[in-house]
Amino acid sequence: MSDWKDDYANHIMKSAALPSAELVRGEGCYVWDSDGNKYLDFLAGIAVNSLGHAHPVLVDAVSRQVATLAHVSNYFATPPQLELAERLLRITGAGAGGRVFFGNSGAEAIEAAIKLARRTNRPRILSLQNSFHGRTMGSLSLTGKSALREPFEPLLPNVEHIDSTIAALEAAIGQDVAALVIEPIKGEAGVVDLPEGYLEAARDITREHGVLLILDEIQTGAGRTGSWFAFQQHGIVPDAIAVAKGIGGGVPIGALVTFGAASDLLTAGQHGSTFGGNPLATAAANAVLGEIERAGLIENARLRGEQLRAAIAGLPLVAEVRGRGLLIGVGLDKPVGPAVVAAAMSVGLIVNAPNDTSIRLAPPLIIGDAEVAEFVTKFTTALTQASEAK
Ligand SMILES: *Cc1c(COP(=O)(O)O)cnc(C)c1O
Repeated sequence: MSDWKDDYANHIMKSAALPSAELVRGEGCYVWDSDGNKYLDFLAGIAVNSLGHAHPVLVDAVSRQVATLAHVSNYFATPPQLELAERLLRITGAGAGGRVFFGNSGAEAIEAAIKLARRTNRPRILSLQNSFHGRTMGSLSLTGKSALREPFEPLLPNVEHIDSTIAALEAAIGQDVAALVIEPIKGEAGVVDLPEGYLEAARDITREHGVLLILDEIQTGAGRTGSWFAFQQHGIVPDAIAVAKGIGGGVPIGALVTFGAASDLLTAGQHGSTFGGNPLATAAANAVLGEIERAGLIENARLRGEQLRAAIAGLPLVAEVRGRGLLIGVGLDKPVGPAVVAAAMSVGLIVNAPNDTSIRLAPPLIIGDAEVAEFVTKFTTALTQASEAK
């Protein structure tokens, strides 16, 4: 037994709860802890490890890039950065009229979106109740959970968190609104889908009022929901999307991709980041996105998602199954989420409970029949244990 728990409790900022394990190694869809236990990883670092752990394509790309040129600052261009910008413009559909701002995290992508919105010279920003957009002061201002915001107020003024209904949007919108910022699927809320037709209607209404529609695809992007980005299943074109998490497969990177006229809002000297778009991180993202394409992992996400959804419906404690592709929310009929997570860990399975009545699944996009079968067996045991304990 190692003493990592004491070290963590004594040395790490008390801003997060004590972790349940210390992980030391990963390979494919599995990770190992410092006591030698092996886990099937159905969280993938919160939808980050798109290719699983230690994927040879990512290992090779990062190793080669760090041995070639790791960092240069944003005073210089690099080939991996330009390649990734072109790739993001292609896979988002933003195309030749679009542009990319690179940062290092989801919150930074949202901060860039807030600065973009400010440049419209309109004061108000709308986001949704129960949304999550990050923990920095700007992104926290947009986050629709008052318990997260209140200890840090005052935050940005003129941000309103509205209900996820078209009626609420129509009541709030006007010529003084700069942007509507929304997650296509609310990940941290427990993988909660928007009402049918919401995104399509929100696009029409925002366009009518000259309001930017900015999508937070930080959790839903990189092929996870069965298309490169979730909005692509709704036949709409946003003004900007924030991406991070699964794009880098574990190497920190975030970006704001703008479409059309929104691409001209930020001008020289108005935003920047020392690490943003650095060759190491962008080489990693090129490798990850290239492998997702080459190996057909978007299609795999769609098919494995359907397989999992069918298998999960009808298991003990399961009230509903939400989400798309390999971003799955399991609604529980009792508030035993943390007990399910603990029971899963005890049988060698990592899942996550964003709240008491939800389990979130976000496995690597590379899962196959064997991982699906192993997951179903272990998850059934965990649900059964948790339902009997309560
Ligand atoms: C994770 C997440 C963020 C914040 O990203 P960080 O990299 O943690 O800053 C923002 N929005 C959504 C939807 C997320 O899932």
